Amino acid sequence: MSPCAHDTAASAMIEVRDLARHYTMQAGLMDRLRGRQPLRLRAVDGVSFDLAPGEVLGLVGESGCGKSTTGRLLVGLEEPAAGSVRIGSEDAMALRRTDRRAFHRRVQMVFQDPYGSLNPYLTISEIIARPLIYQGHKRGPDLYARVTVALEQAGLTPAAQFLTRHPHQLSGGQRQRVCIARAIVLDPSVLVADEPISMLDVSIKWGIIRLLKRLVAERNISLLYITHDLATVGAICDRIAIMYLGRIVEIGPVDQVLAAPRHPYTAALVSAIPVAVPGGKRPPPEISGAIPDAAQIPPGCRFAPRCPRASDLCRSTEPTMTGSSRWHVACHHPATGATA
Ligand code: ADP
Ligand code: MG
Repeated sequence: MSPCAHDTAASAMIEVRDLARHYTMQAGLMDRLRGRQPLRLRAVDGVSFDLAPGEVLGLVGESGCGKSTTGRLLVGLEEPAAGSVRIGSEDAMALRRTDRRAFHRRVQMVFQDPYGSLNPYLTISEIIARPLIYQGHKRGPDLYARVTVALEQAGLTPAAQFLTRHPHQLSGGQRQRVCIARAIVLDPSVLVADEPISMLDVSIKWGIIRLLKRLVAERNISLLYITHDLATVGAICDRIAIMYLGRIVEIGPVDQVLAAPRHPYTAALVSAIPVAVPGGKRPPPEISGAIPDAAQIPPGCRFAPRCPRASDLCRSTEPTMTGSSRWHVACHHPATGATA
């Protein structure tokens, strides 16, 4: 997809603005006796992005940076502390409160764990039929025709072989295809896939990636593809957003971000991508340590304590998102020219 494709407001199918989700961590008994206040954990702390129809945006970052929470906020599994999500001209949060069925027709999710996200007592046809029944469809030939089409579109062919089976009779890859069939059976316009391949064998992963890419193109779906694995984003994403401690620190076209990362954190993630060529090497990542606790976000740039280029300004002042191209922006301190 060309950068120009995102240029008009009309094509910005989803607009996420300043989304935040905070959790209150209750203090233990001893802490309470010492008069300590409950901690506020800022899991998602002001996330904004646009997602066009037919576009795949990768949300990438280390474990604990807030990717899944962002995904759950988007599909309405969590209530935001602040911010908004618009789907076209509709306020998605208001729609979820007033007409939950209409919301679920537009927004669906594929979870990480294809073993835990399917009810083991139901047959595959019952699992796929559930969203349709929830939407008021009557059981009958029409309903099962839709179930069959969804299974076949998810690559489970011939569908008749799968309809009466139970999840435990399928492989991990087939189960994830069932999850995808369940997510597309209502013909949603927005799909969130949270680490959909991380629990699958290497040989199966690429089939699932190809399937998601084809469905997005054929059905003009907007896909938020959540992953901690930068090695796969080039195969599926149009753009990627790099997340660190509850914030997006860089966003842009996938080839540009991977070839010329602007933020030191992105550069470190890129240099950690394994090279498949024997003897092939990248410069070692410059950062050390782990992502800090989201209940104790450092002042200034939240990446500064791990950043090899951090200056005093970085440790005291929050950077803003800027870039020479409006399609590829990163956290930046304009006063010094420092990238983060
Ligand atoms: P990621 O998907 O990037 O690994 P998550 O979105 O799962 O990260 O979590 C972000 C942060 O929010 C982590 O510090 C995590 O421990 C915390 N968190 C997530 N869900 C909850 C919850 N229900 N209660 C308290 N803390 C949570
Ligand atoms: Mg996660």
